[in-house]
Amino acid sequence: VYNFAAGPATLPDPVIKQIQEELPSINGSGMSIMEISHRSALFDDIINAAEQDVRELMHVPDNYHVLFFQGGGTGQFAAVPMNLATNHHKIALLDSGHWATKAGDEATNLGYQVDVLASTKDQHYQALPHANTPISAQDYDYLHITTNNTIEGTAYHELPEHGDVTLVGDLSSNFMAENYNVSDFGLIFGGVQKNLGPAGVTLVIVRDDLVKPVEHIPSILNYNLFVKKNSMYNTPPVFNIYATGLVLKWLKEQGGIEGIEQVNRQKAALLYDFLDDSKLFANHIKPSDRSLTNVPFTTGDAAVDKEAITAATDAGLMNLKGHRSVGGLRASLYNAMPLAGVQALVDFLHNFEKQH
Ligand code: PLP
Repeated sequence: VYNFAAGPATLPDPVIKQIQEELPSINGSGMSIMEISHRSALFDDIINAAEQDVRELMHVPDNYHVLFFQGGGTGQFAAVPMNLATNHHKIALLDSGHWATKAGDEATNLGYQVDVLASTKDQHYQALPHANTPISAQDYDYLHITTNNTIEGTAYHELPEHGDVTLVGDLSSNFMAENYNVSDFGLIFGGVQKNLGPAGVTLVIVRDDLVKPVEHIPSILNYNLFVKKNSMYNTPPVFNIYATGLVLKWLKEQGGIEGIEQVNRQKAALLYDFLDDSKLFANHIKPSDRSLTNVPFTTGDAAVDKEAITAATDAGLMNLKGHRSVGGLRASLYNAMPLAGVQALVDFLHNFEKQH
């Protein structure tokens, strides 16, 4: 089957095979990766290699830390304000959809002021918001953006204007699927469960000068502690970091982010071209803002959409149901989805259209 789920999502076949083979005994130790101590030399090698591969793949500058957390993107909705909004306690936000709203709500709940600079809510988030007036670091600790909007199907391919304000990016759904310059951000974060591994690891890449001692915040979300302890303040998700490391090695074999982005562009173009030609299905996102990784589409008739989803499932094209807030269908085309999977989807949709 081909799995078009929005996350957790499909993993590369060779990685699944390697995990199967290595599960009883890691590196000839006679112990499973799920059984070894995070304080062992064996695991040190695994986490250090994963960090090194993140650095190589994203060309992370030396003045940035690469950290492994738990708690997902949602954990970072709390961690980022608590660690970074220490000066003005004020955050700027571009409201591009569900996950940007969630991030803003969590910061508000924790007592920070969140100013929404622009929102495309009244356009059903089918285009991306951009601030109309310049912003300044004298007013805001940072600007929060969601680079890829998983539910709505938009992505910033060019980063929005942010003056001298630190940019924070939630890359949860296009982390290493599309190239961004780490140095354009003060901090980026995302769970790995869409493009980079099994759920349970949250990657944070943060510029050194933004990491400082902060009092009265939970240790589990404290960047300064995690830097000092090499992401092992407490027991890390050992298996998940190992599996993420394998996906990173696989990604390097695909030509890194540059290589996979080319494939991702081909995959997305194949589906968008079909949808733009179709008389039954349509994607309603502003073309320049279309996501490479999440493609929502609809017939405009909920009953026909449902019929298409059921028939697709029968044909082995799984998890195409759109998010309940958007409806219709959604195909998530993350890194591990092969071009052949998208071709199979397009062939299916084409045949379905002929019959309707
Ligand atoms: N941000 C974006 C863009 C997402 O797509 C998601 C989840 O799908 C989240 C944040 C929340 O991430 P998590 O489930 O890892 O907490």
